Amino acid sequence: MAQIVDRVRPDLPHIHTSLPGPRAAALIERDKNVISPSYTRGDPIVVDHGEGAMVVDVDGNRFLDFNAGIAVVATGHCHPRVVEAIQKQAARLIHMSGTDFYYEAMVALAEKLAAIAPGSVARRVSFGNSGAEAIEGAIKLARYATGRPKIIAFLGCFHGRTMGALSLTSRKAVQRAGFGPLLPDVVHTPYPYCYRCPFGQEPETCAVECVKAIEERLFKTIAPARETAAIFIEPVLGEGGYVAPPRKFFDELTRLCAENGILLVLDEVQSGMGRTGKMWAADHFEVVPDILAVAKGIASGMPLGATVARANLMTWPPGAHASTFGGNPVACEAALATIALLEEELVENAARMGSYLMDRLRQWPSRFPAVGEVRGLGLMIGIELVRDRQTREPGTVLRERVLQLAFERGLLVLGAGDSTIRLCPPLVVTRDQCEFAAATLEECLTQAMAEG
Ligand code: PLP
Repeated sequence: MAQIVDRVRPDLPHIHTSLPGPRAAALIERDKNVISPSYTRGDPIVVDHGEGAMVVDVDGNRFLDFNAGIAVVATGHCHPRVVEAIQKQAARLIHMSGTDFYYEAMVALAEKLAAIAPGSVARRVSFGNSGAEAIEGAIKLARYATGRPKIIAFLGCFHGRTMGALSLTSRKAVQRAGFGPLLPDVVHTPYPYCYRCPFGQEPETCAVECVKAIEERLFKTIAPARETAAIFIEPVLGEGGYVAPPRKFFDELTRLCAENGILLVLDEVQSGMGRTGKMWAADHFEVVPDILAVAKGIASGMPLGATVARANLMTWPPGAHASTFGGNPVACEAALATIALLEEELVENAARMGSYLMDRLRQWPSRFPAVGEVRGLGLMIGIELVRDRQTREPGTVLRERVLQLAFERGLLVLGAGDSTIRLCPPLVVTRDQCEFAAATLEECLTQAMAEG
């Protein structure tokens, strides 16, 4: 098996069994008996190991990973510097609980996050283990710091699955169904998804109706400004379809928050840590959030989440909020190694590879009738498929077929939104790998369209 893999280029896919192969199929059978059926498994891949942008399954098939563990392994799979940082720290101290004791890794990481967070304001950090926990911390802090109960969130956003975060999440009905009642005093408003403008406007001429809707409808009805603690938003919609709003939206949203003493919370769990070709998506729009939620790419796969807030907001007393495992030394050292790599080269590589991919994909709407829009920032790229260019009816079935064909060719890509193909490779991805991904998707799209 190893010999077969070694004969081909190690940085590109090689599939030598039917999929899933025999070992993968056996494990998937065992999985069915014991793992919660609530998990949304798509491709039947059972991963054995990974390196850079490549993963190898238990049957020796090699795949190019354009998911990065759902936008997590920013530095690629098992980057040697991250592995070394983890191994060194694991040999010295794995856990102590930063809630009650001190260790340097946690302080050093908080200092680093405070230094690189958008805007030059003093920051404090509270650590958890996931994106949802970073959001929970932000919800609690926003209410605590303002003394106001209400929270405004955007339709289509995904903020996590714990009860507080889920109350903000409005991506899919199945994610909320049967779990109510959720947190009271959370209201939702349309996201600035310009390709499918909820107000029937064009981006060039719109008067930022998405913000007007908050000001003129919500404030005057169910969420008076003086009762609203915070507005939560993903600065680039992730699970909802990889949508980047126009700059003027953020200008208006920032004004609205400032005028009304409402906190602006940016959920950069998916868009942060260099993914968009800048450290934060916020940097593209020059937005300075009051609170920033970070997770996923922060520690290249070690579980870590962070709620990063203006220092003068995070003044809650001892005991108000903490997590036993949050910010454990091993995850913190992995994060410090990750951020060093991002700053040295990988944010820049994300910008370079993102623009290389976009230059190529930009032609697709004129080449393929089923491609409605290609959009994105850096290596956070969405290709939205439609059944009809005029009506823009989502091409959901076609998207699923393209993803399946890509998998059969060794390219791992996931969907986002109803009919968008999402590209979020590790930030170490090379030009050849981007070229392979683009060429493979062109082939798959051509075949899927021909099949009808
Ligand atoms: N926020 C955003 C924008 C996300 O994309 C996700 C996960 O996909 C979360 C929050 C929740 O993160 P986690 O799954 O680590 O709880």
